[in-house]
Amino acid sequence: MTARIIDGKAIAEELRARVAAEVTRLKRDHRIEPGLAVVLVGENPASAVYVRSKGKQTVEAGMNSFDHRLPDSAAEKEVLALVEKLNADPAVHGILVQLPLTKQIDSLKVLNAIDPAKDVDGFHPVNVGRLATGTPALTPCTPLGCVMLAKTVHHSLEGMEAVVVGRSNIVGKPLIQLLLAENATVTVAHSKTRDLPAVTRRADLVFAAVGRPEMVRGDWIKPGATVIDVGINRVSGADGKGRIVGDVAFAEASKVAGAITPVPGGVGPMTIACLLVNTVRAACAIHGLPKSAV
Ligand code: NAP
Repeated sequence: MTARIIDGKAIAEELRARVAAEVTRLKRDHRIEPGLAVVLVGENPASAVYVRSKGKQTVEAGMNSFDHRLPDSAAEKEVLALVEKLNADPAVHGILVQLPLTKQIDSLKVLNAIDPAKDVDGFHPVNVGRLATGTPALTPCTPLGCVMLAKTVHHSLEGMEAVVVGRSNIVGKPLIQLLLAENATVTVAHSKTRDLPAVTRRADLVFAAVGRPEMVRGDWIKPGATVIDVGINRVSGADGKGRIVGDVAFAEASKVAGAITPVPGGVGPMTIACLLVNTVRAACAIHGLPKSAV
């Protein structure tokens, strides 16, 4: 058996096109120009690449992009003052503070200062609580993308056995809530789980968000299952060159699974696309419009 490859790049592109159409409608019918502000503190090269990509895709979707860069030396109170300014700015519908922040800054304090209505990363405790209680919320982008990818394979996830490996606040935990909202039967596994292969082998849907290169092996997968690989791990290949692999041993797992995401080109591209979705959703909610079509 060879698994169907879930083409996250193409699915994200299609999603971004739908976001752009929704932005056009908001501008035309309501004179609303959704705006996303991204705050980058310091010189972390990976963060800088990511922020550039977010800005570019925001503009391509027809939205306003506001780029705020603060030096490594920026004090916590400067970042908090900027967040307050963005909270009050009517042109800004989404605020994203790029993590990790520098050592002198308490990330939790900064994330908690973001207006929950503009919290497009979905990390504010108000949104975390809303998601957990099944009330409308801005939800973290990567898990949202994971569920969207699974739903390109299965029209409905209802009653399916889903196993999430990893319980971080940014991926695993919100993913559990999103899967519950889809009426899946959810098991969460982590570093203390006993006999993890036996747990994943039960699953119709396996989500791997661990941060360990190719940890999930082919014989951990039930034949025909759908595998969504969140991991992004840099390893050095036999030729000494660096390459990116996921948390799933793709070559093995793709012989057993029914459908599988590649790394790169699976979950990764969905994350920024979902950030754009959240910005449009935030703009609609802030202006009292019905839930956006994306
Ligand atoms: P994290 O905060 O380090 O959490 C890792 C989770 O994996 C923890 O819950 C940990 O369990 C669990 N774990 C670690 N070793 C394990 C083992 N041997 N067996 C079972 N569970 C184990 O990582 P994260 O931020 O969620 O990220 C996970 C991966 O996704 C990383 O590769 C990251 O780069 C990637 N990622 C990708 C995107 C994207 O856009 N595609 C976005 C975010 C993250 P404990 O809780 O017990 O320690």
